[in-house]
Amino acid sequence: MSVTPADDVSVADSAFTDDGNRERIQPGRKRSHPLWELFDDEDGISCCTLCAYKVKEKFTSTLLNHLSSKHLNKYRRIATIKQEKDSEREKVKAKQPKMKIPADRLLQYWKNSAEQKEIDENQALFANSTSFAYHLVKSFEFADFVFSLNPRYQLPSREMLKKSVLMIANQIKTNIKELLKDAGKVSLCIDLWCQKTLFVSYLAVTGHFYCYKTGELENVCLAVKEMTSRHTAQVIKAMTQEILMEFELTKDRILRYRADNGANIVAAFRESLIDITAKILNLDDSEITAAQVQ
Ligand SMILES: [Zn+2]
Repeated sequence: MSVTPADDVSVADSAFTDDGNRERIQPGRKRSHPLWELFDDEDGISCCTLCAYKVKEKFTSTLLNHLSSKHLNKYRRIATIKQEKDSEREKVKAKQPKMKIPADRLLQYWKNSAEQKEIDENQALFANSTSFAYHLVKSFEFADFVFSLNPRYQLPSREMLKKSVLMIANQIKTNIKELLKDAGKVSLCIDLWCQKTLFVSYLAVTGHFYCYKTGELENVCLAVKEMTSRHTAQVIKAMTQEILMEFELTKDRILRYRADNGANIVAAFRESLIDITAKILNLDDSEITAAQVQ
């Protein structure tokens, strides 16, 4: 941001550099012009310290005229000092960083303001619910897009967005646990996403129950977890149990399991009440082999 130079520039300075500018020094203003080394101010009268010249005014041009006509060497020295001072001031001014900041950018939300936080949370929720790539917050184009929507909003850093996403995820988990406290028995839907062209696969568990508190049939996603080992019945069962324990869902609270007819899933829950609600389709290898609801 451009900063004006220190306010030690008296009006007299400009009088020296600009021909014909005969402005009077304002009372109380600092006299930075070097000619005042050679003049005393005695109750409003400028007195030359080199001779008996006195004048009832403070125009630097008048005083410089006196010096040039009566004390030429001193006048030249004063002119040189003034030139050097002006040159130094110009250098300082040149070093001042100048940033062009649009006026509306200066009105950015305070980082702890309610407006900033609300948008932060919505962005984290969006990132949480989609495959939003965190690195986009560093993209100039994305920043311009957000700026065009709301110039006052400051995009979070990538790390800050990750933290917010985790916070939102934990909040959602807490909310689900609260709903489950007032729920009847829970039906679970278990599904695997695996595709031969994909290197990763996932196990997803959703819960469906009636909540006495909200009076609604609630459908929640309990977890979508990456499977890092073979998709055996034991692995599927263990992963599912881990998810259910996190939500304090004991065996007696499960009404039934629903899944596709994958042999591994059926084997995992063969001792429980399981509904086969979909069949794996015999599609070619490029297609997803997960369940499709009939
Ligand atoms: Zn004099």
